[in-house]
Formats: sequence, C-alpha cells, structure tokens
Amino acid sequence: MTDVLVKVDLADNPHTNPGVHNRWHPDIPMIEWVKPGDDFILETYDWTGGQIKNNDDAADVRDVELPQVHYLSGPIGVKGAEPGDLLVVDILDIGAKPESLWGFNGFFSKQNGGGFLTEHFPLAQKSIWDFEGMFTRSRHVPGVRYAGLIHPGLIGCLPDRKMLEMWNSREKALFDTDPERVPPLAAMPDGGPTAHMGQLKGEARDAAAAEAARTVPPREHGGNCDIKDLSRGSKIYFPVYVEGAGLSMGDLHFSQGDGEITFCGAIEMAGWTHLKVDLIKGGMAKYGIKNPIFRPSPITPKYDDYLIFEGISVDETGTQHYLDVHIAYRQACLNAIEYLKKFGYTGAQAYAILGTAPVQGHISGVVDIPNACATLWLPTDIFEWDLMPNKDGPTKFLDGSIDVPVAPDL
Ligand code: ZN
Repeated sequence: MTDVLVKVDLADNPHTNPGVHNRWHPDIPMIEWVKPGDDFILETYDWTGGQIKNNDDAADVRDVELPQVHYLSGPIGVKGAEPGDLLVVDILDIGAKPESLWGFNGFFSKQNGGGFLTEHFPLAQKSIWDFEGMFTRSRHVPGVRYAGLIHPGLIGCLPDRKMLEMWNSREKALFDTDPERVPPLAAMPDGGPTAHMGQLKGEARDAAAAEAARTVPPREHGGNCDIKDLSRGSKIYFPVYVEGAGLSMGDLHFSQGDGEITFCGAIEMAGWTHLKVDLIKGGMAKYGIKNPIFRPSPITPKYDDYLIFEGISVDETGTQHYLDVHIAYRQACLNAIEYLKKFGYTGAQAYAILGTAPVQGHISGVVDIPNACATLWLPTDIFEWDLMPNKDGPTKFLDGSIDVPVAPDL
C-alpha cells in the first residue's frame, strides 16, 4: 500500500489542515520525511481551497479571496537531500477525488486579479466542467469535448533564505514602479491571517508570514509554472536549496491551454497525485541547472490536426511594438476568439475554450523586426462540429441562449 502523506477533506476549511501551506518560506516545517526511492500520494485542494462552487453563479469568482491562494500539500522532506542536489520527481499518476468529479474555469474581475485578456473580459465569469473519466465537457460551453492532459499547475521545493530575499527584493522593485496599478504588478508578502504557514505556529509563524513569498509566480524553483505538459508520467529535476528539499505541490488542472490565459485558471480541480522521489547528488552544478528541467509523459491526448491562428506584435489600437511576444500571443488569441464567434459562440465561451482545451501556443518568430509572430494552435478534433473554413461560410450552431455566467462588479 502506498502511503497517503496528506489527506484533504473537501468539506473542511483548508486552514485547519496541518498538511498544507500557501506561502514559500524556508522555515515551514516538513510534514513528513521519505527516503530516495520512496513513492507516496498527496491529496490536494483546488488552488482556492474550495472557494468556487459547482453552480451557475459567478459571484464566487468575483468575490474570491486571492490572498488565500495557492493551497499546497507538503512540504515533504527527502532524507539526504542537500542544497545543490537535484530532486528527481516522477509524477506516477494523478486523479480527481471521487466525490468531486468536476472542475471550474473562470475569468477574474479586472478589479480582483484580471487575466491575459482582462481589457476585453473585465467581469468575473465562470464555467463548470464535468469529468467523464478521462474526458470533459461543460454545460456552459456546448460543442466541445476533449481528453484531459492532467497536471499540477504548481510544484517545487522550498527556497533558502538567500533565494527568498532575492525574490522579495526584485519583485518589490517592480511593484514599486506602479504601486497603485490594478491589477498589481506583483503579489507581495502580506503577513495577514490568510497566510497558512503549515505547522509553523506563534511568533515564528507571524515573523515568517510577514516575509514569506506568495505562490503566484513561477520562479527558479519551479512553483506556479502552469505547464500543461508537466502531466502524469513526467520526470522532473528540481534544484534543491534546503536540507531535505521540501517538496510541495497543488493547483491540479484537468486540462489547460498554453498560457493559462484565463488565469482562474485552467480546469481547476481537487485531487490526488502519486509521486516518487530520488536524488542526484550535486546535480545542479553537474548539469548547470538553474531552473527545473523535465521529461514529459509518454502518454498525451492524440490531437495532431490543428487550425493555427497567427498574431503579430501590433496591438488592438494599431500601435507597433518591437518583437513583443506577449502582444503577439494576445493577438493570436483574439483572432481565434473572433473566428469562433462566427459559429455562434459568445466571446466568453471562446475565451474559456482557449483557457481550458489542449491548445498549443508557440513563439514562431522573434527576429523579424519589428514584429514578433506568435501562433495559437486550436485542435480541430475537440469540436463536435466542423471548425474549418469553407466556401459556404460558417454555420451557426449556437444562438447565444447558453453562456458563461457573469457577475457584475459591485
Ligand atoms: Zn491553476
């Protein structure tokens, strides 16, 4: 029997669970110790800790308390791991909890987090996705059904003090360039009651919470990378910074498009992950590793036919930008949304598809001044209708009577 090192009860408040935490700090105690070669299971809450419900009302996405995120299970100590080693992590398998065979996708209000296309979709919206074994479909987004490429959005090891201080100082410098910006340029340490510091208690907890890094961005240790291809069957090599490594993970996604453009997020879910760990002593220097590297799964959904949308670094106002792949990818996404609307989808439904389906995003060209070219690859086989252009023009199969629920700002 494989040990379940963290159990979560979805009916409970995650703040009462000592096996989870929602900040990065070197003083967060290991909740369990394992040996190299061991395998074990971690159960995880969804990234918001159950704030989003399976209903047709987006008020919970509008009102979400973002300082609570992300609820991570761990940290797991690995005996013998020392700074400079590589922690080798096999993601042996991932699944949904049987009592929770559904996930959510949302767009945050621009007033509370926003998203990649927040200027175009400024209000909170939510779609619910039901799991049919390895497939998913949504009552809010008809006409698509696809196989999940299930993965943790967030996995990594604890930082040491030096790395934590580097993160905080560089992110503060960026934040300070426009401290009033909505949404903010970076999520800074807040030390508030929403910081869950695992088994750290009392004054030690308060001191650590005040400087602990938020889990929002990806960093040198991996963290919130949101890489859809980091799926079950992957083998990851993580830099180790503290004695025991301190592996934590969460934010499971049933499926996600490249970029996780909707931010809330992919198809977010609670679930479990079966992991195996090993060590490469001194591996960081041996292989010149600064950020994690990984080998993807031998199993992926077989979607190999695409309709590909191009975007260039000219923004919505017609302004020219210099080799800006962020703007180019945004244009590719907006082009795909306009196309899907011709078949009857609302913009929100099209946006939800790009955020959740196994769409690929590519940086196609970054040298042809002044335009970067990014491409968005839309798999044709996920649609239950013909996506391709033809001489007769698009056939509308939706009439707008079904949409992604929206919650007006208060
Ligand atoms: Zn997520």
